[in-house]
Amino acid sequence: ILKYYDEKCAGSRKIYEEAKQYIPGGVQHNLAFNKPFPVCFDRAEGAYLYDRDGNRYIDFLQAGGPTILGSNYPAIRDAAIGLLNTCGPVTGLLHEAELMIARKIHQCMPNVEMFRMLGSGTESVMAALRISRIATGHKRIIKIGGGYHGWSDQMVYGLKIPGSRNLMESHGIPRKLFAYVDEVRPNDLNMLENFLRINRLRGGTAAVIVEPVGPESGTRPVARDYNQGIRRLCDMYGALLVFDEVVTGFRVALGGAQEYFDVVPDLTCFGKIVAGGFPGAGGVGGKKEYAGLMAAGVGTMKHKAYVGGTLAANPLSALAGYTAICEIEKTNACEKAGRAGDRLTDGLRKLIEQYSLPFVAYNQGSIVHLECTGAMSYDYSSYFIGKSAVGLLLNKDIMIARKESMERMGAAYMANGIVTLAGSRLYTSLADTDEVIDDAL
Ligand code: PMP
Repeated sequence: ILKYYDEKCAGSRKIYEEAKQYIPGGVQHNLAFNKPFPVCFDRAEGAYLYDRDGNRYIDFLQAGGPTILGSNYPAIRDAAIGLLNTCGPVTGLLHEAELMIARKIHQCMPNVEMFRMLGSGTESVMAALRISRIATGHKRIIKIGGGYHGWSDQMVYGLKIPGSRNLMESHGIPRKLFAYVDEVRPNDLNMLENFLRINRLRGGTAAVIVEPVGPESGTRPVARDYNQGIRRLCDMYGALLVFDEVVTGFRVALGGAQEYFDVVPDLTCFGKIVAGGFPGAGGVGGKKEYAGLMAAGVGTMKHKAYVGGTLAANPLSALAGYTAICEIEKTNACEKAGRAGDRLTDGLRKLIEQYSLPFVAYNQGSIVHLECTGAMSYDYSSYFIGKSAVGLLLNKDIMIARKESMERMGAAYMANGIVTLAGSRLYTSLADTDEVIDDAL
């Protein structure tokens, strides 16, 4: 692998050597680092990415999720260029594209009666939690262990991202900022109910926030009826159900995971696909009684949730997102990308069996997971070795083993012309024809 990089990626190495002087860690994006050095990309089209040295890669990273239609999708590009030619990227004032995307999302997800576009998935979650606290008058938030909801202080504290660099992404965050957040084991409705019950005496639960396909975009899959169980418990204990659909929105179905699982959340967080691959990929929406709590203008009214963002809902992102959602609908992209995911997963399973490899492959449509079983525990709870006053302790050996295997896998994929997300997740897109998938296999 090292030889491959040295021979074929000399141009990338050159950029990286200089980038290290000016950029912390040499890359601007957490996902862009791979060993022995990051590859620098110049061109993207459909299912493929091309690096600095002209090498072609099959793109299963999809920028971390936004490009379900494939890279540099012509209709989105044309819409963006048209807008740039007329009003430029931003005015800070109302543009019709904002209405177009909000109306379109409502068509796709009927319970999202109102939608406010924000700067990122992280911001969407921050807004949803704030609204939940105002709407319920309760303080506490419950999240599902291992779930990723962005890097805000209250959500990232104590996060155990398998494969993450520091194991606990909580350095620099005082513990108190996490004081109102509890974590429960996935697939464990009893534990969730216990917390909901205890929380009645501790300020009440404002929201239960979940990734509906399971923590870490379904890396820890959840039972089919798990979300329904959470819905029922939220209703019983007066908490809002917040679906983090940053990854699943417009991916697992046009109507997101809420359509896929047939569960209606109170609030939905958006990101990624919602801006069609452009920045400013975020937003939160839901029933009027909740989403309507987001203040517009100077907050003179009581009980309004303040949200902001200079470049949030800029017309470029709003129009790109609107165009992407329309194209996903028109081309049936969720289903087609899902079928490509099934084909990839089936093929991977055959290879695993044929060569007796220590891996497991599974998917939720176009979200494909390929995990090393040596470092993988099917039972998420074994990541924890006990309880402490601050929550659950971490089994570091398992985490380190997984991180190392992911790094090695990521480098091996890259050397073989496949870009993945952190060496263990592969997003498929509309551009992934049978030929692309078979070539990857
Ligand atoms: N929620 C989920 C489920 C995510 O996967 C992510 C990003 N990977 C976020 C929230 C945060 O989104 P952003 O990176 O746009 O802040």
